[in-house]
Amino acid sequence: EALRRAPVAPGSHVIDGERRQASGGGAMDVISPIDGSILTTIPRGTREDAEIAIGAARRAFDDGRWSELAPAERKKILLKWAELIDANALELAVLGVRDNGTEIGMALKAEPGSAAATIRFYAEAVDKIGGEIAPTGPGNLGLVHREPAGVVGAIVPWNFPLMIGAWKLGPALAAGCTVVLKPAETASLTLIRIAELALEAGLPAGVLNVVTGEGAVVGEAIARSMDVDVLVFTGSAATGRRLLEASAQSNLKRVYLELGGKSPNIVFADTPNLDEAVKVSANGIFRNSGQVCVAGSRLLVERCLHDAFVEKLAEHAQDLRVGDPLDPATAAGAVNSQRQLEQNLAFVEEARARGRRIVTGGDRILQETGGYYMAPTIVTGVGPDDRLAREEVFGPVLAVLPFDTEDEAVAIANGTDYGLAAAVWTADLSRAHRMVRRIRAGVVHVNTYGGADLTVPLGGVKQSGNGHDKSLHAFEKYLNLKTAWIKL
Ligand code: ADP
Repeated sequence: EALRRAPVAPGSHVIDGERRQASGGGAMDVISPIDGSILTTIPRGTREDAEIAIGAARRAFDDGRWSELAPAERKKILLKWAELIDANALELAVLGVRDNGTEIGMALKAEPGSAAATIRFYAEAVDKIGGEIAPTGPGNLGLVHREPAGVVGAIVPWNFPLMIGAWKLGPALAAGCTVVLKPAETASLTLIRIAELALEAGLPAGVLNVVTGEGAVVGEAIARSMDVDVLVFTGSAATGRRLLEASAQSNLKRVYLELGGKSPNIVFADTPNLDEAVKVSANGIFRNSGQVCVAGSRLLVERCLHDAFVEKLAEHAQDLRVGDPLDPATAAGAVNSQRQLEQNLAFVEEARARGRRIVTGGDRILQETGGYYMAPTIVTGVGPDDRLAREEVFGPVLAVLPFDTEDEAVAIANGTDYGLAAAVWTADLSRAHRMVRRIRAGVVHVNTYGGADLTVPLGGVKQSGNGHDKSLHAFEKYLNLKTAWIKL
């Protein structure tokens, strides 16, 4: 309760080991989606702010103050950082919820908790990843060094700022890189806070810098910089495209993208536990108000089960408590922004105009609070070519499509430009494995939705992106291979 009302100090950049207030760009308001009020301000970073931060990261990398620290020492600092994040978990979670609207139950699990776990995971690997000796013929020695890639630019979104931020920061810092991080305009506060905690943990100045502000200004400056070696991004496909262009027009920095999805959740009539499938499917699309990159936003149901499944799902959706994200009983909190809410509603309006059936939801609710809330929405009769079946909504709107055969399910599932996540519900083991092979996606869940932990990679195929977050594979983005070829 006290945290809910605590005044929030204005955010600041964190550059070269110091908090920096707004410079030439002034400040921008941070609107809380809980009630539409102004929570605080953050600096509206300028191109120059970004360049100063990149310069600091460049110097910190080039002088080896981080990359040449003994691995055990780097590990110790990162572990200390994770400990400080855990120690401040409640404060961070509440601050994050006030900033971005995610329900507190989810935020507590997915935000500080998972950020600390992620940093710990990579910290523990710091002194366990070495190079290779190549199997050369006699007379030569081939050594493969793994070196930190340099200065990393990280541009992250607002739906899970700490979790996704840590997916980039953990392996980048563990690998020995330095970082300039740009949080999303509507979710900067917790990332600023953990950057301060990193300094407290002993991370040398300039190793982790945070610059807040607009994507088109700060983000562009990072993407176009000649001094950034690797760019990592989670966000929209449109921005991802711009980042690749910026790389091509500057220094050909490597660009790793984690973009959107239109992930199919495929329910066969022989699903082992119908109630579980209903509950987990609802969770897969409605948690965090659908603002999840791997959200199961297309439900494909075998025709003979379609009506019964939709009926149960609609009942379940109507029972979900939407509202105040700081209330622990809330199942889905606020939509992140007015803009996002309007975008969600436009998708529903279009479906309505096409004669699709809005089984439940479809509207803005709790308008009297001043906050941005939307009822969990289920739309049936959606055609495979509808915009609702092909484009990412990033809101609590589920498109339902029936199918008759396995082949048809695969064709619909693969029929979008995206390929991030998917799920298959069936009791037939062979079919489950067949579907895993046939669906073009980075992760396929079987008889569940979501929940894949840190030990496995997450990354998309097709226009959902390239490269992977999580697991030891994530290191590859932040390392360069260098060969030493020695004549003996
Ligand atoms: P969304 O539409 O979900 O907000 P974006 O891709 O716009 O997704 O945002 C993800 C992140 O990308 C945010 O931090 C945002 O500020 C940043 N961003 C937006 N536009 C650009 C751009 N042109 N260049 C670099 N970063 C950008």
